[in-house]
Formats: sequence, structure tokens, C-alpha cells
Amino acid sequence: MAKPSVFFPKKFAPKKNKFAISYYFLYNFFMKIICPNCGNDDKFYHLKDGRLKCSLCKKYFTPEKKNIHIDEKKLKKIIEMILKDKTLNEILEKIDISKFKLLKIKSLIREEIGRELKLKFKDEKLKKNMSTFEKCCCILEKQNKNFFNFLEKSLKGKGGIRSHNLKEIVSEYFWKFKNQPKSLKEKKEKIFQMVKDKFWFE
Ligand SMILES: [Zn+2]
Repeated sequence: MAKPSVFFPKKFAPKKNKFAISYYFLYNFFMKIICPNCGNDDKFYHLKDGRLKCSLCKKYFTPEKKNIHIDEKKLKKIIEMILKDKTLNEILEKIDISKFKLLKIKSLIREEIGRELKLKFKDEKLKKNMSTFEKCCCILEKQNKNFFNFLEKSLKGKGGIRSHNLKEIVSEYFWKFKNQPKSLKEKKEKIFQMVKDKFWFE
């Protein structure tokens, strides 16, 4: 028998780590899980196959969809600022949102972009003294001179990027490169359509 529990993905399960508990609360606070059938947001039975069973209406559903609560206009503004290459801090200055939630949204957008592009990456050994641009060039399988020029220009003046984010960064900029001829409005709408199913709008 499954025990009732608040939905909590395995990878964030509290460990013997002093940060785990605060992370747990942050996660539950922002990733509001709501039963798509009855709207219950309190208790769920956690099933082994990853689905949840609502404690109220007893219906089964798969979480993760629509797991970020946000105002639609706010999300569109964030997409616009990402398209304009604004940094995390610049976005935080203009939009009333927590850094945690913004990071989650940014990586979700990149994830969806990556899914659409299906870029092929190589597992290259990266050297410490390489610039972010050099690292990005190294991991992309197909060489494309125009894209690399675009990437070099885009990354100029940007600080270091953690290596585990490299693929996400390359995907983001490849999408921007590919969609250059489109207007900002079109691009904003395209990304919004791509990610909207992942959000729960207020
Ligand atoms: Zn329910």
C-alpha cells in the first residue's frame, strides 16, 4: 500500500545535508502540485511508477506537467528578457520573482528548446583554461562556422558558465541563431507555446 505523501521527486529527497531541508520547503512551495481532476493540492499517494493518486478524488495522474505556478504575463516577460540575452540579475531586477523559481524556469525553457533541436554532442575532455566559447565549440558534433561566429559574439563579456550547463547554453544559442529572422514577438510566442504546458497559470 502506498503511503500518503506530499509529492517530492526522488532527486530532491532530503539527504543528510544541511541544505536539504530548506530545499525541500522551497521545492514544495514553488512546485505546486494540483490534482488535474479535482484541484486538490494537499495530499497525494506516491506510486512506485511515478504517478500520484489524489487522496481526495482517488484519481491517478502523472505529475511534472504544469508544476510551476506563475502569472502568464510574467512568464512572457521572462521569455522576452531571455530572448534579449538579459542576465539572471537583470531579469531579477525587473521582475518580481525568486531566483530559485527563475532558474527553474530558465532551465525548463532550455530543456524544451533542446528537445526541439536534438543537437548532437560529443563527450570531449574540456580543459580548465578554455573559454566558455571554446568549450561550447568542443562539445558540438557538427561544425557550423556561422553559428560559432554568432555564439562568440553572444558570449562576449559574459562570465564563466558551469560546464554542466554547456549543452543547455549551446541549445539556447543555437535556437536563437536559427530563429534570428523572426521578430521578437514571433519568437516569444514560439517559446511560450513550447513551454506553456509545463505551467499552471494564475
Ligand atoms: Zn483529485
